[in-house]
Amino acid sequence: MSESTFSRRKFLILASSFMAVTATPTLAASVLSKTRPRFSTRKISLSNIHSGEEFEGIYWREGYYDEKALARLAHLLRDRRNNKQHSFDGRLFDVLHRLQVSLGTQQPYEVICGYRSSATNATLHKKSKKVAKNSLHMQGKAIDLRLEHTPLKELCDAARALKAGGVGYYPKSNFIHVDVRPKPTFWT
Ligand SMILES: [Zn+2]
Repeated sequence: MSESTFSRRKFLILASSFMAVTATPTLAASVLSKTRPRFSTRKISLSNIHSGEEFEGIYWREGYYDEKALARLAHLLRDRRNNKQHSFDGRLFDVLHRLQVSLGTQQPYEVICGYRSSATNATLHKKSKKVAKNSLHMQGKAIDLRLEHTPLKELCDAARALKAGGVGYYPKSNFIHVDVRPKPTFWT
């Protein structure tokens, strides 16, 4: 065998093994795409009525919360009185996602109140005893909102039907309160 024939054979062997390696993932992906369910994601759409800031997008994919999305949401839902922010319980977004799905709407939620710092909560509690002393707003587990083209009562009934936590109905102030306490609790 001459030097050049050897090199050529060696090259062909290397080339064919390289092709086998690169071809495998492509084949695997095409088989998987036929057998696996679609890439699963959860979306949410919110706007803050005070700042005008909006979030629309995926906050959960394939079993994991998207940290960047959660950080953007925490910023959007900060305490508007002092700009303090707090991480939010991802399960609250799951409830809101399910609620949008059950109502068949992609309209953004109009958020009236998200996170409330302890100082803000104490001030509001002094003004109105309707504001709980240990509000779940202080733990990033509660939100007050409405949906523009959905009657408040309909939104409230749909939220209660999920039995996912607390749901308060505030028709005079035109919002509902949704939280992720362990036991479903409803009030007006
Ligand atoms: Zn509330």
